Amino acid sequence: MTAFPAGTILGYPRIGRRRELKKAVEAFWAGRIDEQSLRATAAELRAANRERLAELGLGREDSAIPESFSYYDQVLDAAVTVGAIPTRFEHLREQDGTIGLPAYFTVARGEGDRAPLEMTKWFDSNYHYLVPEIGPETAFSLSSDRLVREVAEAADAGFRTRPVIVGPVTLLALAKASDDAPEGFDPLSRLDDVLAVYAELLAKLKAAGAEWVQLDEPALVSESLPASTAQLADAAQRALAVLGGAVQRPAIFVAAPYAELGDVLPVLAAAPIEAIGIDLVRGGIPASLPELNGKTVVGGVIDGHNIWRGDLDGALGKLEALRALGAESVSASTSTSLLHVPHDVQEETKLDRRLVSWLAFADQKVGQIVTLAQGLAEGRQAVAAELDAASAALADRHDAPGVLDGSVRARALAEGDFSRVSYEERKSAQEALNLPALPLTTIGSFPQTADIRRARAQFGRGEVPQDDYEAFLRSEIDRVVALQEELGLDVLVHGEAERNDMVQYFAEHLDGFAVTEHGWVQSYGSRATRPSILWGDVSRPAPITVSWAAYAQSLSAKHVKGMLTGPVTILAWSFVRDDQPLAETANQVALALRDEIADLEQAGIEIIQVDEPALRELLPLKKADQAAYLDWSVRSFRLATGGAAAGTQVHTHLCYSEFGVVIDAIRALDADVTSIEAARSRMEVVADVARSGFDHGVGPGVYDIHSPRVPSVDEIEQLLRRAVDELPLQQLWVNPDCGLKTRGYDETVASLHNIVEATHRVREDV
Ligand code: GLN
Ligand code: ZN
Repeated sequence: MTAFPAGTILGYPRIGRRRELKKAVEAFWAGRIDEQSLRATAAELRAANRERLAELGLGREDSAIPESFSYYDQVLDAAVTVGAIPTRFEHLREQDGTIGLPAYFTVARGEGDRAPLEMTKWFDSNYHYLVPEIGPETAFSLSSDRLVREVAEAADAGFRTRPVIVGPVTLLALAKASDDAPEGFDPLSRLDDVLAVYAELLAKLKAAGAEWVQLDEPALVSESLPASTAQLADAAQRALAVLGGAVQRPAIFVAAPYAELGDVLPVLAAAPIEAIGIDLVRGGIPASLPELNGKTVVGGVIDGHNIWRGDLDGALGKLEALRALGAESVSASTSTSLLHVPHDVQEETKLDRRLVSWLAFADQKVGQIVTLAQGLAEGRQAVAAELDAASAALADRHDAPGVLDGSVRARALAEGDFSRVSYEERKSAQEALNLPALPLTTIGSFPQTADIRRARAQFGRGEVPQDDYEAFLRSEIDRVVALQEELGLDVLVHGEAERNDMVQYFAEHLDGFAVTEHGWVQSYGSRATRPSILWGDVSRPAPITVSWAAYAQSLSAKHVKGMLTGPVTILAWSFVRDDQPLAETANQVALALRDEIADLEQAGIEIIQVDEPALRELLPLKKADQAAYLDWSVRSFRLATGGAAAGTQVHTHLCYSEFGVVIDAIRALDADVTSIEAARSRMEVVADVARSGFDHGVGPGVYDIHSPRVPSVDEIEQLLRRAVDELPLQQLWVNPDCGLKTRGYDETVASLHNIVEATHRVREDV
């Protein structure tokens, strides 16, 4: 067996430096290119990535370069590899039982009334994976040899790569019971069956030349899954006994990123595998190490979640600490796959050079790994210059203007800043708003048409003067306000045409943020986002949204809702400074929003929505950390909104329907009205709301905006009646599930029309 490489990464971005994969995949879906040409583009990307990683210093032949490509999602890859697709897609299998690329995409995206796999968040990242559906009927069999072919492709190009696949425990722990499964069925009960297929895959990988294979088992660190830690540990023990016991296999590296392994570490240490990856960014150095029987400990010391260059000296120190604890073989790695960071900071030619010197995107992190590996092999002295340079950058960052801003820090907070007067008092003050029963509104954005995108891009490139661009935006507002009046909505919005993205827009207008040009990060499938970089103390140099809201309000006698993004969501969807607690940064953002709310009130806006769709997203994986998170996140929202007058109605919007999980936090936000997704789950959430005793306003969505489908009046009426049956009438609002920006105008107008009609019907009877 060859040794584990001294330095490696758990995975590399797959979308391409210029999002080439996105473009090719979407062209394939649209029928503009054929499968052959999509495959050719993917092969070129893989080749370019391998060459790049080798150029950055990872070994060509020592299994240091991971084979971590995916056309869409790594969980779907694993499910398809073992043949775990829902019955409704079985007809897509080839004659020989394999699942081809078009079928793979169909499982991801659905077809006609065959719904795709559900999508949900991958641990505590902003990446979303597809949820496998597994039941007693799932017939596991090796159904794709893509990974095997990719190892062979790399070998042909002169590389020995390390194939990466989501491990069997994580695959099953993340799966949900299929529609055909009996009540209470647990996908983990199929472990033995799926192991046979993994064993077959390992044999083929070995035959293709793989000396190491990486099984990603992040489920082992999570306390937020249905399976308990004890169940997961037991499953891991059984799985690795089987896979480790296989005769024909590569050496096995089990990676457990995203948090500390804790009690599961001894289980892995005792298993017949050869290397264990632990996350030393999210987790601490263990107090002691169990007997490792010669296994390599792969220390995830370079942050895979974030883009800071960070403390390289400290990272080497952590690896040295592992050695001091008795690990004979220690390797350097990233804490997670680099999937969560953009490719290369050197592409950012417009970013401030000083800021760039503090950053490390994927390629720079690979460089750091190479340094650490050398430091481990040859001693600190050998890499002293690199360590010193990183420490100097860190010190420079600390002292740079804007990182610590006296005027931001001088704003003292009093406990009273975090609360408004009682809800009862607010409710009576807000009667002056004069809203009807079941007030009709939307979540904020209207369709972002090609015209809007074009105008924004032209303005961004400096091709259109500011006055013209603003006149264009006003004409959009004219249109959107007129449309809402015509439809008969009660609380109007300005439509958000000026916003490229609900976080980036604010980042562009606040001090302390920088935005990138090429810093794309995969969010799911072919979708990528470009998180902003929150590097310094945050403040608001000037009002941001006030002129648009005020303009919209000037056009109508109805109320126009001001529209802001909340502090938690701004943090969740940005790369955030790591030199102070998130709570502190959140409060700075909150104060900027608080000033914006005061200015909106000044401008005559009486209803203000502060969106927090990411509140649930940032919830830590470890139970012990959740209370502290919920405390600071709720407090930051309350700080942002706490200055609003009693008569100002504060709304918030959450993008999901798992109300139960965070109900106490939602209650603690103390927003006057909370809108929430509900159409897809047929208003199930309303029962949770009723049961919880939540007594503030609530707008359960009646229109699933993820699909172009127009819900009928009858269907919406039924949903509304269900809501009215469960909750007091005065509490209810009527709105779509989420913003309308991704929808087209035709379906939007038709759907809103039906919503208004259905609401009128229900109002007549109550
Ligand atoms: N106000 C935003 C919109 O309507 C909310 C989007 C979101 O919740 N993700 O687009
Ligand atoms: Zn939403």
